[in-house]
Amino acid sequence: MQTVFEKSVKGKRGVTIAPAEVEKYDFNEKYLRDELVLPELAEVDVVRHYTALSKRAFGVDDGFYPLGSCTMKYNPKLHEEIAAMKGFADAHPLTRADKVQGSLAVIDTLSAYLAGITGMDAVTLQPCAGAHGEYTALLLVAAYHKSRGQSGRNKIIVPDSAHGTNPASAAMAGFEVVSVKSDADKGVDIEDLKRVVGDDTAALMLTNPTTLGLFEKNIIEIAEIVHNAGGLMYYDGANLNAVMGVVRPGDMGFDLVHLNLHKTFSTPHGGGGPGSGPVGCKAPLAKFLPNPRVIRTDKGFRYGTGKNSVGKVSSFYGNFGVYVKALAYIVTLGGVGLRASAETAVLNANYLREKIACFYPADNDRPCMHEFVLSMKKLKDETGVSAIDVAKAMIDEGIHPPTMYFPLIVEEALMFEPTETESKETLDHVADVLRGIIERAYTDPESLHSAPHNAAIRRPDEVKAARNPVVRE
Ligand SMILES: *Cc1c(COP(=O)(O)O)cnc(C)c1O
Repeated sequence: MQTVFEKSVKGKRGVTIAPAEVEKYDFNEKYLRDELVLPELAEVDVVRHYTALSKRAFGVDDGFYPLGSCTMKYNPKLHEEIAAMKGFADAHPLTRADKVQGSLAVIDTLSAYLAGITGMDAVTLQPCAGAHGEYTALLLVAAYHKSRGQSGRNKIIVPDSAHGTNPASAAMAGFEVVSVKSDADKGVDIEDLKRVVGDDTAALMLTNPTTLGLFEKNIIEIAEIVHNAGGLMYYDGANLNAVMGVVRPGDMGFDLVHLNLHKTFSTPHGGGGPGSGPVGCKAPLAKFLPNPRVIRTDKGFRYGTGKNSVGKVSSFYGNFGVYVKALAYIVTLGGVGLRASAETAVLNANYLREKIACFYPADNDRPCMHEFVLSMKKLKDETGVSAIDVAKAMIDEGIHPPTMYFPLIVEEALMFEPTETESKETLDHVADVLRGIIERAYTDPESLHSAPHNAAIRRPDEVKAARNPVVRE
């Protein structure tokens, strides 16, 4: 497809600008460009160009999108409308507090709900992504240990099944990363944990359910081991969709959490944002939370700053529109609805897993939580068809591929997260499609090696696309 610049025709215009009614302003020469290269096109050309582009993308509004670990769920459009209300969307972040009491009430109320849902005592909404939340929380961890004269605690323990952002955030925050092995049940190996904890442990980062979609059964014992060694427990809340309203990280022994509002709380995930990764913590850590904070007083809300704060972690107050959607979601569903959505996510994952595990040798026969991981190793050994071939073949069937080759501890991994918003009919259809692909692996493996056949881009050089992306003309 031609780019909008290649389509440009000199002299074409999309809009006619009326002659100026005000006097010309003399800018300093140095602020003026010599040249401005913009595509020259009529309005209809521009609309068609972007409409054509949008049709080549695949989103959760197009079809089944089971990208595991990402929670690509359908989010109610009503919440977009509420976030777009002028009072919210047009509020300038520098407006005086007394003029934006409603927006500050959104921040305060949402923080309180998230604290309640996670079992934490205080919440900041500022971080703009999950990884940003991890980083912020690790700054709190560092500040906490320092305040107790324990700056020597410089190691963060991360399971070998962890999401890549965990070790990356720990390193960014200046910690050394120590890996802890998984046991036969794919949970944290308790013996290995005992071996790696010590008086240099700052925290353990863990997601529960794990990235394999399994509930960490030994969580209470794990928390005890880390706490006895003087370390903190950090909950990566990206998988909260499986347990919200059912169990709370604070009750499992965690001291800090981050949530992904763009996974769990009604903001579409993907496309580069905007996201939101609020951080919650237990009372002893609250004084280190970022500034500015919204303070509730008898006379309404005001801004405040804490002197022990780790400082500011984003411009203004973070991605406010995402908060409005999250609050709308929580209020619409209520406690019972939140729990029901988590339970339905788990039910859907188990339903699909049961339907397809019989022809894909499953890695683990425990019931799953919100997602499950299959291994295509046996299929590859028998037919040469790999996990990526299966995933690519799904594209031709109008289904977004699941997460591939993650977590790293499962060979030829395919990780499915159907989410609560998919119907039984959709799940049955997906199971049929997968069964068809597996049958083809035994009869016509070639057609799978060359899939997808109907996509605009078929098999890009993925390393090159990630390392040297060409994102402009
Ligand atoms: C998505 C995810 C993250 C990171 O969240 P971003 O918003 O993408 O930065 C961290 N941990 C887990 C388990 C995740 O699935």
